[in-house]
Amino acid sequence: MKIVVIGGGAAGVFAAIAAKEAQPEAQVILLEKSAVLLSKVKISGGGRCNVTHSCFDPKRLIENYPRGGRELLGPFHRFQPQNTIEWFAAKGVELKREEDGRMFPITDSSQTIIDCLLSEAKKLGVEIRFRQKIINLSKGFLIEGENIPCDKIILATGNSAEGHRWAEQLGHTIESPVPSLFTFNVPTSPLKELSGVAVESAELRIPGFSMRGPLLITHFGFSGPAALKLSAWGARVLHEKGYKLELQINWLPDLTEEKIYEKLLRLKEAAPQKSLPAENLFNLPKNLWKTFAPAKRLNDLSFSELRALAKKLHADPYQVDGKTTHKEEFVTCGGVRLKEVDFKTMESKICPGLYFAGEVLDIDGVTGGFNFQNAWTTGHIAGTSAATCSNPN
Ligand SMILES: Cc1cc2nc3c(=O)[nH]c(=O)nc-3n(C[C@H](O)[C@H](O)[C@H](O)COP(=O)(O)OP(=O)(O)OC[C@H]3O[C@@H](n4cnc5c(N)ncnc54)[C@H](O)[C@@H]3O)c2cc1C
Repeated sequence: MKIVVIGGGAAGVFAAIAAKEAQPEAQVILLEKSAVLLSKVKISGGGRCNVTHSCFDPKRLIENYPRGGRELLGPFHRFQPQNTIEWFAAKGVELKREEDGRMFPITDSSQTIIDCLLSEAKKLGVEIRFRQKIINLSKGFLIEGENIPCDKIILATGNSAEGHRWAEQLGHTIESPVPSLFTFNVPTSPLKELSGVAVESAELRIPGFSMRGPLLITHFGFSGPAALKLSAWGARVLHEKGYKLELQINWLPDLTEEKIYEKLLRLKEAAPQKSLPAENLFNLPKNLWKTFAPAKRLNDLSFSELRALAKKLHADPYQVDGKTTHKEEFVTCGGVRLKEVDFKTMESKICPGLYFAGEVLDIDGVTGGFNFQNAWTTGHIAGTSAATCSNPN
């Protein structure tokens, strides 16, 4: 049995290791086009590598995947964050949990993860070949260019266009790739001077999608978990609109517009002489409240002014014009169409013997370690099944 894994990122390396673990006699060759393996792991999580997320219920876990969640339910019953933690622990790498659920190596260094994976691959006898110039994958399972005949191919080329082209040539459909996980540019935002101010819970809305969570005002627009999640769920719509559209912010998502208005009215009755900006009625960050509240005494505020304020706090419109990468981290929405892959084995339903793992598939998660978990899970299943299922050729 000769298995060729193409792509030496998290998914490819994990698949190669899994194949060797499952079938030590199999010849497993890992082809990488660059001169290094795991280059994204190295820079991930700000150099700390957010390996996975401490969410151990597959049903809840899949809620973090704008694309691929449904398909990953079965795979997560077989290899989920708990398995990732145990796998690394068995190799002497302990992961720690941060308050928000993200998990990192206790060394806070992505190099720990790289060293672990590479030493495991070496120990098991994975043959690693760098700077590989593959021209084509042919149906007879010949890696053209490097001229390697093989029984199984695991395609783990991430978001590379070549990987998508080969999958297409072998009969697959590619959902067109567009960026996911970014922050919103709002050049006309009057809040830019409040850069760094964060709101614990706001609701962001674009046509067809809304997202609630912490929001950060930046010097170019909006960031923070709510903005990043919205960019992931709305990745396709945002791309179609050229990243130019109206974004509405509900600054008080626990209250209806009517409730907000009532609270303002009650304050006007109770403290007519007080200045509205000094009365932080809704516990918003002080500076933010001051930009919203007209600088008047409550008595001098008309009912229509209070109505307008309630409306603004409930649905505050901003014109998005462009996007910015968040801490250089991004993933691709799009890739190999999921209906064409058997998620029990990660094998192609169209081209037997061809397997997929990682971001080459139309799967992407929000930030928090979910994208690597996809790589570990699909890599593990692809490697194990490629090594143990009978040869189709
Ligand atoms: C800056 C940054 C930080 C990130 N941080 C995190 C994080 O902390 N946690 C998290 O969960 N996710 C994070 N992500 C996302 C995560 O890195 C990816 O989801 C993950 O790396 C995907 O793994 P992969 O193996 O599928 O693809 P990749 O990591 O992209 O690996 C693909 C590999 O295939 C190789 N390749 C491509 N084409 C060919 C070819 N033609 N022939 C041979 N080889 C080829 C590439 O050189 C590469 O080595 C981050 C992403 C970025 C960009």
